[in-house]
Amino acid sequence: MKLQEMKDKSVLKLSLLENAFDFLNCSLDFFVRARNQDSQKEWKFAILNIVHAIELLLKERLRREHELLIYANIDKYKPISRQTPTVTWQVLIERIKYVLGNDLEKIDAGRIDKARELRNQLVHYDIELHFPEIYHEYANLWNFVREFTEKILGENFSQRINTELQVENDDLGALFFEEIVYYNSIFMAKELKDDILQEQLNTHITIDGIEYQRIKYGDPEEHANFELGSIPYFSHPCGDCSVGKGQVHLIGCDIERCPKCGEQLLSDKCVDLHVEGVVHPHRAGYQ
Ligand SMILES: [Zn+2]
Ligand SMILES: [Zn+2]
Repeated sequence: MKLQEMKDKSVLKLSLLENAFDFLNCSLDFFVRARNQDSQKEWKFAILNIVHAIELLLKERLRREHELLIYANIDKYKPISRQTPTVTWQVLIERIKYVLGNDLEKIDAGRIDKARELRNQLVHYDIELHFPEIYHEYANLWNFVREFTEKILGENFSQRINTELQVENDDLGALFFEEIVYYNSIFMAKELKDDILQEQLNTHITIDGIEYQRIKYGDPEEHANFELGSIPYFSHPCGDCSVGKGQVHLIGCDIERCPKCGEQLLSDKCVDLHVEGVVHPHRAGYQ
């Protein structure tokens, strides 16, 4: 395209809301390709674009509360321009929690953190996505977008989805309701919940012929260095295997301590879980 022709196309102008759904549709587009081509690269862009859509939708809600709330520094008067920096993710979350309180908590259920975690992994680390976990994660984020759009923004979700993506959109809805459950205050795959329940039967571990009681998530033996007065880490499910406080971890979880020496069980010298062949297939954990 020649420069003059590009100029004639004039300016791309999308409202914050339109921009959010533009990213969502783009994400769905990559999701379709990821499903059809079984390609990690497509998954990467499906996830990045949906996380971006989430960020913009949260900003849209703040903007509706007060247009200044989407800007980073609102305590010192400066004329607002297109260059004025908007909030960081962290400030965005703090402000949206103030504005929405309980209404957000019910819909969030750890999914906003999950979105940020996924984006950080994709942008800052090397990439390892597992199927079907990534499929479940995606359906989970998609459902967050849908609920936030309908319940918080009061917008019609389906109308915002491009016609050619409607079928996939319906599929994701079905997948979410069939395969995802709410458990331990988060949404997780049904099979993960079943694994967690099953694991609770394995209360002991044998090391050198001696049976030890396994250390549970949030037990004092687990948090020797945990700072008093801060919000306890175990008020959220385990970041690696998703068990709740008082449950034994899925065997092979990063967080579980060795009951004999107190070190991380997974990398411990007392017992080699890999040789024993007991590392849980879902130890990477997903929500
Ligand atoms: Zn765990
Ligand atoms: Zn040990």
